[in-house]
Amino acid sequence: MTRDADCLFCKIVDGQVPATIVRRSERSIAFRDIAPQAPTHVLVIPKEHYVNVAALAAEAPETLTEVVREASAVAADEGIEAFRLVFNTGVQAGQSVFHVHAHVLGGRDMTWPPG
Ligand code: 5GP
Ligand code: ZN
Repeated sequence: MTRDADCLFCKIVDGQVPATIVRRSERSIAFRDIAPQAPTHVLVIPKEHYVNVAALAAEAPETLTEVVREASAVAADEGIEAFRLVFNTGVQAGQSVFHVHAHVLGGRDMTWPPG
């Protein structure tokens, strides 16, 4: 497994930092965001460490597919038909944790464009 000893989300994968985990798959976990921005706000991450979605797409495309499939499954579990799937990529785009994560947001009306 690829791990970064200083990475918060690697620590969640390893159970060193607690999280409310809602789904697990072979290569991913999904857990509730600590500061939810919508009634449903779940993060889906690969268990292995990739800094962003571009790196994941380049290095492990099958894992990216699994992350997106799991994100859809989270929405179904939560009973929401409409959801927004967000991969903030880079500081200027709002990325603050550098272990790729898909935000699954739903359960309320969304506006466009995002801020
Ligand atoms: P980013 O800003 O990188 O796109 O998203 C990082 C997300 O991780 C934020 O929505 C933030 O609320 C969430 N987050 C940060 N620290 C923790 C934590 O310790 N536990 C959980 N569950 N979420 C966290
Ligand atoms: Zn990590």
